[in-house]
Amino acid sequence: MKSLSFVAAGVCVALASCSLTSTLGNSPFVLKTVVKTVEPYFHGPGIDGMQFDKVGKRVYTFRWNWYRNLIIDTDDGLVVIDPMNQQMAAALRTELDGRFPGKRVHSLIYSHYHLDHTSGGAALEPLNVLAHEACASYWAPLDHSAVLPPTRVISGDTVLTIGSVEIRALHLPNSHTDTLYAFHLPSERLLFTADLGLVRTMAPGGVPDRYAPGYLAAMDRLIELDFDTFVPSHFGYGKKQDLVDWRNMMEESRRLARQAVKTAGTPGIANAGTQMGKYFDAVYDPLREKYGHWHGFNEMFVLNLVRDVLGESLGY
Ligand SMILES: [Zn+2]
Repeated sequence: MKSLSFVAAGVCVALASCSLTSTLGNSPFVLKTVVKTVEPYFHGPGIDGMQFDKVGKRVYTFRWNWYRNLIIDTDDGLVVIDPMNQQMAAALRTELDGRFPGKRVHSLIYSHYHLDHTSGGAALEPLNVLAHEACASYWAPLDHSAVLPPTRVISGDTVLTIGSVEIRALHLPNSHTDTLYAFHLPSERLLFTADLGLVRTMAPGGVPDRYAPGYLAAMDRLIELDFDTFVPSHFGYGKKQDLVDWRNMMEESRRLARQAVKTAGTPGIANAGTQMGKYFDAVYDPLREKYGHWHGFNEMFVLNLVRDVLGESLGY
């Protein structure tokens, strides 16, 4: 029963987070449980606040709460990958003005179309804005008023040489939207990824907008590259091995969910009343044994489980 109530709380977050008040308004206990369960994943010491770090000869990373982007200091000006949001872009602008006085942002590059990565760029006053050519069609029906429009669109793998620094933009279709790029800087032996890989941290909410087979293929492709430093767009940065470990965690989670669906059936089809508990029991212990010490293991477990079980059953 203990595991079942935990599952129920997580499912409420997964399915009804947008209408918590109406769904859970009469149930402060459940509401408190839900908030408590997820809150420490996104907030806490070492997560809240800002930090600007040097991670290569000409490369820097700026963390603003759980978001992180990349700054490259080239001969022709600065390159920024992802402004994220208006507050973060404004804070970054202050940092850049202080650290690189008089140096303009030559290029702002969007890793993918998602609004939480592409808003607020105007604060950086970039000379050029680059994005995948499909971004515009995703933005069109959304409120994208905070997104500075691209001045140049790209498609497929694209080598960008800016101020004598080679930036390899690697297109990763069918992974996390078909507009996703990772960025490899061979001279810095560094890889930056957006919403693809974390350092000893569980995935948030199953990674929204993810096609699992393409996502795994994207990670496999990146792991083949020659690099040492791995900078993901959330939480801490690390080494290549951290991306390898994360890829293996995602594959293991998925494998366990696949097995659980085989044993307990597709959601809603069999085992009425006990099905979520069976999924939980099949996945929790084996995964905790390997990854229980990673950030967010308990906070995100149920959301990730629900995502994997549905993904295995529906094919995404
Ligand atoms: Zn995203």
